[in-house]
Amino acid sequence: MANACSIRVRGVVQGVGFRPFVYRLARANTLTGWVLNGDQGVEIHLEGAEDDMEAFVEQMQSKRPSASTISEVEVTPALSEGLNEFTIRESHHIAALTVQISSDLPVCEDCLKECFNPSDPRYRYPYINCTNCGPRYSVILALPYDRANTTMTDWPMDAYCDSEYRDPLNRRFHAQPVACSACGPNFILRLNGVDAADGWDAIRKTAELLWEGSIVAIKGLGGYHLACDARNPMATVALRTRKFRKEKPFALMVRDVEVASRLVLLTSESEIVLTSLARPILLAQARLELEGVAPNNRDLGVMLPSTPLHHLLFAAGAPEALVMTSANRSNEPIAYEDADALKRLSGIADAFLIGERPIARRVDDSIARVGAFGLLVLRRSRGYAPGRVAKLPTKRPVLALGADLKNTITLVVDGNAFVSQHIGDLSHYQAFQAFTKTIEDLISMYDIDTSDLLLAHDCHPQYASTKHAAALPAYETRAIQHHRAHLASVLAERGEWEKSIVGVSFDGTGFGDDGSIWGGEIFVGSLEGGFERTSHLRSAALPGGDGAAQYPMQAASGFLAQIGDLPDLTRPPFNFTSRYEDAMQLIRREVRTFSTTSVGRLFDAAAALLGFVRESTFEGQAAIWLEQLARDSSNLDAYPFPLTDDGLDFRPLLNAVVRDRLRGRTVPEVARAFQHGVAEGTAEVVVRLCHSRSIDTVVLSGGVFQNELLLEDLQSLLEPLHLEIWTNHDVPPNDGGISLGQAALAAFGNFNDAERNISEGVAHA
Ligand code: ZN
Ligand code: FE
Repeated sequence: MANACSIRVRGVVQGVGFRPFVYRLARANTLTGWVLNGDQGVEIHLEGAEDDMEAFVEQMQSKRPSASTISEVEVTPALSEGLNEFTIRESHHIAALTVQISSDLPVCEDCLKECFNPSDPRYRYPYINCTNCGPRYSVILALPYDRANTTMTDWPMDAYCDSEYRDPLNRRFHAQPVACSACGPNFILRLNGVDAADGWDAIRKTAELLWEGSIVAIKGLGGYHLACDARNPMATVALRTRKFRKEKPFALMVRDVEVASRLVLLTSESEIVLTSLARPILLAQARLELEGVAPNNRDLGVMLPSTPLHHLLFAAGAPEALVMTSANRSNEPIAYEDADALKRLSGIADAFLIGERPIARRVDDSIARVGAFGLLVLRRSRGYAPGRVAKLPTKRPVLALGADLKNTITLVVDGNAFVSQHIGDLSHYQAFQAFTKTIEDLISMYDIDTSDLLLAHDCHPQYASTKHAAALPAYETRAIQHHRAHLASVLAERGEWEKSIVGVSFDGTGFGDDGSIWGGEIFVGSLEGGFERTSHLRSAALPGGDGAAQYPMQAASGFLAQIGDLPDLTRPPFNFTSRYEDAMQLIRREVRTFSTTSVGRLFDAAAALLGFVRESTFEGQAAIWLEQLARDSSNLDAYPFPLTDDGLDFRPLLNAVVRDRLRGRTVPEVARAFQHGVAEGTAEVVVRLCHSRSIDTVVLSGGVFQNELLLEDLQSLLEPLHLEIWTNHDVPPNDGGISLGQAALAAFGNFNDAERNISEGVAHA
């Protein structure tokens, strides 16, 4: 009698061609039985020889479809049913809990071949897809993942698509968004207020317009892009003007890896990131300067085509490097609905390439980099979201609302932590709407019982996310301090619950235990036991509150107010403007002046002293400017940044900057010595704590650690002392990672008194 076994597979195993794959694999191993989508994931019953079943289980994991993720495989012996063939059985009702929503996928090689084959029915069809590729999260309206629950519901399949959809051996078996040019949606070019062309004609005409220097709004997977020829300065400069975007770099989409390698320095590691399934924007050192694309920036963001439309555009002769920037005005959320795009972009785009398939939710492009510690996702969105990033040891569902800037939310289901797409700045009405919608979406997709929900949010009483927490149903609500959440995000990614670490949490701003603005904090502790604040940056004044982030000179005044004997900073080489004096007045009169330990603002202050006396037009601009200047110097000295009873003392550090500037030392050298000083002062505190507490691991998180040079400096200071450094990889070190950290800390129930008081306040609001 034949042997038999039952196999249960959990993970992203739905809508990714898993069952046809199992079907083919079983047949190849001469096994009989069946496969179906069950309550607990994919269920497989196998009958046959023991060796063949073992080979099956091994190959199921090693050869799994590229879009699938297996999180758990359970094999148990079963009774033989005496089956003589292998079949795909009708699915049971699918419990939402075990089905994970797949992220969006780039078009696969097989589909591309068909797309460029003149005798294929989907020749030049911009919405070609199969179970191995195409949209998922961006088209899903509800679970279970059936066509009726996607934005394809308005396009019934024709006989050709339907026959593929029903054939278990076909690549399109149960591919929910399957369509062809005969039955499916298409692209339309809207020019001067009229529909000028559709299908391939529309794409070809768009390529021409781009050559001529036009700016075209092009519908992508998760929203509209504004595209223009990256090598045409007239176009790039016009785009900046029309978009009100002064200096923030534009991302590029390039035809292929070869073009990318001419524009940026590609290493084997960064090429893996560039070509990975998520197809993120890869941030890498530029090899040449393209006017208007990334002004005063040594880095360039490049991505590869990900949808069939993008490939078709390049095939139709579009310029090989296109600016592909989010379609919006300055900092607004990206447009993703056609009517809204037409309205909001009317003064910006010369033409619109409109795809008829609706986008279910806004999903921006992801941004990633390869740095001193490997992959670093700086914006987690298209291609990554809403994938699982961590496994937390909790059965209770947890919803973490994140921070107000660079917002993401995290939902923990059965211990699986899913991080949402980048939602953005919640002070924008549309972003706030996306925030509440994403919460509703994830809660309903995963069928969460909200009466059982543990809700986590930031401690900041004025955050929109904090206020929203009071309006949500929950079993319990917990406030989690911002800088502890940054550290927790690193430990959660690694699944390290008990490990004691020294944690450095440096960022621009976050609400502290004492109600002041923190941002230069050093902690000791673990996820399980909580984090105790042991050191911090010496407090400085913050005139004008968060507004100081926009004007480095304003931030500088708060630090310089504590330094006596300053030269007249309105004179060369400093050239401070009246904004500096005005800020000093606020401090003297104690008007609208707060107290801060923000290292982000300390970098701004140094940047101002080094010549960044204009407005910062995007978050982190002055710090990036300073880091890049510092890279131009190889000097090794470090300005003093000693630890005193009041914290890490910035006064000698900034004094040295002022002194060396007056002496005429070059700006890159001063910038380098400043950065070195910050690294050395921080390392000294860390080393002392590691020794006194017998700790061997240091966690670095917070927005300041997007500074690659600072990471490198700390690496060269700490690793020779046998201290290991842990940083973020899958979630950003900036506030995009806060929700994961909140979820992890809330799951462990760690609270300090400040957090407990705020939680009670919110619960009673
Ligand atoms: Zn495909
Ligand atoms: Fe932060």
